[in-house]
Amino acid sequence: MPTATRRAVLLEAGYSCSNPTCHVPLLHAHHIDYVQNGGGNGEDNLIALCPNCHAMVHNKTIPVYAVRTWKTMLIAANHAWTKETLNNLLFLDTDLAESLYLTGDGVVRFSDLIVSGLAEAEHVSWVGDASCVFTVELSCPTAFPASEMTKSAYKMKLTARGKALVQAWKKGDLKNLQNAILQEKETTEEGS
Ligand SMILES: [Zn+2]
Repeated sequence: MPTATRRAVLLEAGYSCSNPTCHVPLLHAHHIDYVQNGGGNGEDNLIALCPNCHAMVHNKTIPVYAVRTWKTMLIAANHAWTKETLNNLLFLDTDLAESLYLTGDGVVRFSDLIVSGLAEAEHVSWVGDASCVFTVELSCPTAFPASEMTKSAYKMKLTARGKALVQAWKKGDLKNLQNAILQEKETTEEGS
């Protein structure tokens, strides 16, 4: 395979394994449709995988439709979103994200997902005096005067469709992934 093609395929994946539950570096370019079955050497038939996932695809522990699902997400990332959008999607599916309070600046980092209808920000606000709610949550006995604290914050969470998309992506479920993406596209078109 030409070096330029190989580089393009590795770049498309951001130099980490295309399996969303793996992400390790050290990459191989894998043929999605095998050469002996008529698969080509073009970028559209290649995907970056780490040696471990590559071996699992070849021994069929990872099915071909899962590989196609990951490729679909990479194409979406490079044409509609960015690599950060994909990382944010995975991040919002963690327990850490569920317990995190953000300022407005933090919410802006998720704007791609918000306008795509895949994530939403929940506004959390409170009225405080000298003993504010956050001292309890942070188990911090010395309270900041509430006047010095932000009195509003946001929690980011995936919408039902965002959740469906991440689950399909992680499971390698191409049909549900396409449904989630397609639904998003239709919504965007209606709104424009
Ligand atoms: Zn891997």
